[in-house]
Amino acid sequence: MEPKLGSPQNTIDIIKKYNFVFQKKFGQNFLIDTHVLDKIIAAAGITKDDVVLEIGPGIGTMTQYLSEAARQVIAVEIDDNLIPILKDTLNGFDNVVIIHDDILKVDISHLAAQYHSGRPIKVVANLPYYITTPIIMGLFEKKAPVDNITVMVQKEVADRMQVGPGSKDYGALSLAVQYYAEPYLVANVPPNCFLPRPKVGSAVIRLTCYPKPPVTVQDPALMFRLIRASFNQRRKTLQNGIYNSPDLSFSKEQIAAAIFALGMPPAVRGETLTLEQFARLTDLFCEICKQ
Ligand code: SAM
Repeated sequence: MEPKLGSPQNTIDIIKKYNFVFQKKFGQNFLIDTHVLDKIIAAAGITKDDVVLEIGPGIGTMTQYLSEAARQVIAVEIDDNLIPILKDTLNGFDNVVIIHDDILKVDISHLAAQYHSGRPIKVVANLPYYITTPIIMGLFEKKAPVDNITVMVQKEVADRMQVGPGSKDYGALSLAVQYYAEPYLVANVPPNCFLPRPKVGSAVIRLTCYPKPPVTVQDPALMFRLIRASFNQRRKTLQNGIYNSPDLSFSKEQIAAAIFALGMPPAVRGETLTLEQFARLTDLFCEICKQ
């Protein structure tokens, strides 16, 4: 059994022992700061009843911490070269199962059924940044049973997830995340906490999943099409954004009527609308479609 990981030296020793070569295409920046690791585990609120899914365990550093905190850890890693290393570093951590696969292809509901009788699991990860949005949106949209998601992401992405109207960072990702979960910024993390150092700043964000979305809307899929249309053409008015969208086919008159019924001026921009207002606007379009 290898010594407990987390320090820079232990990580360097493992890298050397296996002649491991970092692969940029897999977003490999390994955590080498024990304080950050402790913060992630504490923020996720893991108990000995929990089953945790770790996305991209790397050489198994955070996996060891998770193993000590949780009942069961399921670690999904895509890189062939990391599998023998994980078998070594996690030898003796008996509540860890390693799955060699692409997380975007894994059926997470099936894992929750298999390891936790379908009850909600927790997701913890230092995410590969190149697929942050597909991973997070996949967890939400596929309706996997998840309590909370505590993840390291690019700082700029963490900002986008938690802001509201009036911020330059507000956009489709903010609204999508906030429809499914309550975001909380746990910590900003500088590049020197990773090996190799990423070129961007990072942050840990916790998304606590709502049992039920905070707004009711007749057609959530239509709401997300309207949101995308509004932010695709950020500088345009809401009316033009919706009218020009290839995904929507409302007439100018219908759009003007819906914006008027929402109580907004004709030249309003989409970026000023709250999630609640997008939900109301969607319901107004649903009513228009029934006429
Ligand atoms: N958890 C480790 C740590 O904190 O040191 C490694 C984090 S590193 C930022 C991202 C990890 O995700 C790498 O191990 C990488 O190989 C893995 N990864 C990248 N794409 C993946 C995918 N599609 N499915 C599963 N794992 C992936």
